[in-house]
Amino acid sequence: MIQTTAVIVGAGHAGLAMSRRLTDRSIEHVILERGEVAHSWRSQRWPSLRLLTPNWQTRLPGHDYAGPDPGGFMPAATLAATLAGYARHIQAPVRTGAPVHRIRAVPQGFQLRAGDDVLAARTVVLATGACARPAIPALAEAVPPAVTTLTPLGYRDPGQLPDGGVLVVGGSATGVQLAAEIRRSGRPVTLAAGEHVRLPRSYRGRDIFWWLQETGLLAERYDQVDDLTRARHLPSPQLTGTPDGVMTDLNSLTALGVRIVGRLGRITGGLAQFSGSLANTCALADLKMNRFLNRADQWATQTGLDGDLPPPHRFPPTRTDPRTPLELDLTSGQITTVLWATGFRPDHSYLDIPVRDRAGHIRHDGGVVTEAPGLYLLGLPVLRTRASTYIHGAAADTDALARHLHCFLGSSGTE
Ligand SMILES: Cc1cc2nc3c(=O)[nH]c(=O)nc-3n(C[C@H](O)[C@H](O)[C@H](O)COP(=O)(O)OP(=O)(O)OC[C@H]3O[C@@H](n4cnc5c(N)ncnc54)[C@H](O)[C@@H]3O)c2cc1C
Repeated sequence: MIQTTAVIVGAGHAGLAMSRRLTDRSIEHVILERGEVAHSWRSQRWPSLRLLTPNWQTRLPGHDYAGPDPGGFMPAATLAATLAGYARHIQAPVRTGAPVHRIRAVPQGFQLRAGDDVLAARTVVLATGACARPAIPALAEAVPPAVTTLTPLGYRDPGQLPDGGVLVVGGSATGVQLAAEIRRSGRPVTLAAGEHVRLPRSYRGRDIFWWLQETGLLAERYDQVDDLTRARHLPSPQLTGTPDGVMTDLNSLTALGVRIVGRLGRITGGLAQFSGSLANTCALADLKMNRFLNRADQWATQTGLDGDLPPPHRFPPTRTDPRTPLELDLTSGQITTVLWATGFRPDHSYLDIPVRDRAGHIRHDGGVVTEAPGLYLLGLPVLRTRASTYIHGAAADTDALARHLHCFLGSSGTE
């Protein structure tokens, strides 16, 4: 049995940031990682993926981007290398190849099983990521067996797909990026778009993440957000981090030759049926984008920045085709692949402690699992602020949670 004060599960950016915070407070700890540092970015992301957040925003406690292209967008492999360098720099005590398959509560804290090892710790931080599993709708089971199905976790490049048309289900960041890439490879692509978040890549000469940060939107706290459940499940914005900084929205996909259809509602007898409310869904996304741009303009005026920025403008509304098909026969041979870009879910199945709500989510208060004192959660969307969804949000989140953890150790007499 290995004894330690704290165990962090997962050596992604969140787990590493927490390690740095615990080291700063001289709290003995170990990070258990099933693969290697930044495993998700090495093995679960497609090679052409670039971050949709600009390089200047890829910052961690004690680490700011110092490269030559702060406004650029880092490829996934560069991020993996950056995280590995960070782990070395902070001398993170990572045990690689240590998959945690069970955590249970014991009188002195927690007992963890990782591979063949058993560990005992006073506190545990779960940092195994928000995107460990693809969220695939139940209707996926009705896809005819002749059609290949895959998820973004298994997608690598268009060359791996069988010849023929591709139905991409989901119009968020992943769906629009993959639809564009597959279409550029020459294949016919249909994208089924449900509710989505449309944002321009840049506005009035500044990247959209500059606006999201400066207007204070990303700093909104979890306990101030109107509908927290909804905020935590909001689709990722339709953005890509291409070197040329272009806008990737449904209009740009249409211009590429991607056919846009409504939300996939049902598959019956091999017939995929799409919602007829695509125009409404798009109008709503346009409305919400313009609402944010209005807020941005007001903020610019109030802060006296109007003179320094190009004038306000609006983007063309999303065009939808009234002849958009409502059905697609998946047995006709036209569609040979269905790609489920329908979101991701965390995987905390290794946690054997009754702290889940009816939907199976771990109940927590800003990352503090109050029903199991000493247990913490990290790396989930809107965990403590809207910035928690993104890499840079881990700095503030780990600062707050490490302070809480430190107090917990003090109050429980283990420090
Ligand atoms: C396609 C995609 C694109 C994204 N793009 C951006 C972006 O541009 N900008 C941005 O800020 N964010 C982006 N994100 C969101 C966010 O940064 C990621 O979800 C991020 O990886 C979360 O970091 P993390 O450290 O919490 O989890 P992860 O990076 O997933 O790290 C979790 C670690 O835990 C390990 N692990 C899991 N289970 C176990 C176990 N049982 N035992 C031991 N180890 C385990 C994994 O191997 C992994 O190394 C993107 C996410 C996805 C999916």
